[in-house]
Amino acid sequence: MEKKKVLIVDDQYGIRVLLQEVLSKEGYTIFQAPSGQVALEIIANEKPDLVLLDMKIPGMDGLEILRRIRKIEPDTKVIMMTAYGELDLIKEATALGAITHFTKPFDIDELRMAVHAQMVS
Ligand SMILES: [Mg+2]
Repeated sequence: MEKKKVLIVDDQYGIRVLLQEVLSKEGYTIFQAPSGQVALEIIANEKPDLVLLDMKIPGMDGLEILRRIRKIEPDTKVIMMTAYGELDLIKEATALGAITHFTKPFDIDELRMAVHAQMVS
């Protein structure tokens, strides 16, 4: 069976490394993007099964990236990573089909399980 692909989109290097480490142990193929431009290229080329998407990214923010994902790969599963107090943004992301969100600093184990749940469904 082909490995499931996860794309991590976050401008913070530390978050990308942490998620890469935890999720690669789960047996997924991991891609990383620090920006919307890089993320959209990877989505077009690799068609990841799931995207972990930071809301606050300099330049193209998470919502804009999510809108563009919906245009190129509408069925991609997306989980948002947000900061405290981003309720309006979270509502918009939900309207754009984001599955759920995790507020930073999140419990890495909860996030790992949420990703797993999506991969088996
Ligand atoms: Mg950020």
